[in-house]
Amino acid sequence: MIIVLEANATPNQIEDILGRIKELGLRAHRSDGQERTIIGVIGDEEKLQSQPLQAMPGVEKVLPILKPFKLASRQMHPADTVVEVKAGDKGPVVKIGGGHLAMIAGPCAIEGEEILAEIAKTVHASGANILRGGAFKPRTSPYSFQGMGEPGLRILRDVGHALGMPVVTEVMDPRQVPLVEKYADMFQIGARNMQNFDLLREVGMCRKPVLLKRGMSATVKDLLLSAEYVLSEGNLNVVLCERGVRTFEDSTRNMIDLAAIPNVQGQSHLPIIADPSHATGRPDLIPPMSRAALAAGADGVHVEVHCAPEKAFSDGPQALRPPQFATLMKQLQDLARLMGRQFDQTQPA
Ligand code: PEP
Ligand code: MN
Repeated sequence: MIIVLEANATPNQIEDILGRIKELGLRAHRSDGQERTIIGVIGDEEKLQSQPLQAMPGVEKVLPILKPFKLASRQMHPADTVVEVKAGDKGPVVKIGGGHLAMIAGPCAIEGEEILAEIAKTVHASGANILRGGAFKPRTSPYSFQGMGEPGLRILRDVGHALGMPVVTEVMDPRQVPLVEKYADMFQIGARNMQNFDLLREVGMCRKPVLLKRGMSATVKDLLLSAEYVLSEGNLNVVLCERGVRTFEDSTRNMIDLAAIPNVQGQSHLPIIADPSHATGRPDLIPPMSRAALAAGADGVHVEVHCAPEKAFSDGPQALRPPQFATLMKQLQDLARLMGRQFDQTQPA
C-alpha cells in the first residue's frame, strides 16, 4: 500500500500517519520526493484496508502497490535512486544512477599486489571509477583457484584506495559478510547467489551498497524480488546487474538480455548496469555490447581487464587487455556525453 501525502502535508501530520501505521503493527518506509512525500506500508494489507487512513489530515490518496516487489518499485519511489559508493571513510564518492555512470573494471580474481596494482593503474588512467576483483571465487570446479581470501581483500582495498577508487568484491556466504564489509566499499552478490536469501538479508542489514547480479536463469521479476530482500532489511543502496542468462546458444558464454535494462528501469527506481564480460565471455563482443548497453540506458558497465590474460587465474579468455579497455572507455565517454550522462572521475584524496 502506498500513502501519497498532500504536497503541503505538515511534519506533525506525517508523524501522526507514521504513528498510526506503527500502531497497526505495520512497517512504514518514508520517501521524501521533491514535490511530495510518499509512505510505503509493508505488511498485512488487510489490516490497512479496514482503516480509514484516507481520512487522515495530510493524506491525498491511498493506493495499492501492484508489483510483488514493493520497495523496489517505481510506484514507491518515482525518481531514480542514485547509489553512492565511497572509497573508505574519507575517500572520493562515485555515484551510480540518475545520469551518473559507473565503470567497474579489474581482474576476475585478485592474484597478488603487483599484478592488481598494474591493472588498477591502467584502468584508472583510462577512466574506470570503481575497481573490482574477487577474493572469494564461486568456481564451477572445487579444484579451480578459489581466491586469496582476506589477504586478497586487503590488497584490493589498498590498491584501489591509493588511486582514490572505491572497490567492489564478491561475498558468497553470510558468514563472510563482516570480513568483506571491513575491506570492501561495495558488496557483489554473484549470479550463483542471487537467490541466497540469507545472504541477501545479511547484506541488507549493512549500509554499504550492494551490486546484485542477475541469476543465470532468473527472470527480471526474480531479480527485483531478490533486490527487495536487501531493501526490506533497510539497505536501500542496491545496484542491479544484467550479466546474461543461460540459453541454447553455445557460441557465447551466456546471452545478454539488453531489454532487461529499460525493462527494469520502467518498473524500478534502482540503477542497473551491464556486465558484457560474463554475458558474452568474448573480448570481441564486449566492446559492442558495452556500447549497446549504454545506448539502452544502462547506468554503467562492468568489465574484466587483465594485463596478461593468458596467465590469469580465472576468466582469462574473456579479459580485455589494457589498450582494448582504453579504446572502449573513450568510446563510452563519447557516447555518454551525447546522452547527457557522465562517468564520475576519482582522484586519490
Ligand atoms: C564475477 O564477477 O567474477 C562473477 C563470478 O560473475 P557472475 O556471478 O556474474 O558469474
Ligand atoms: Mn569473472
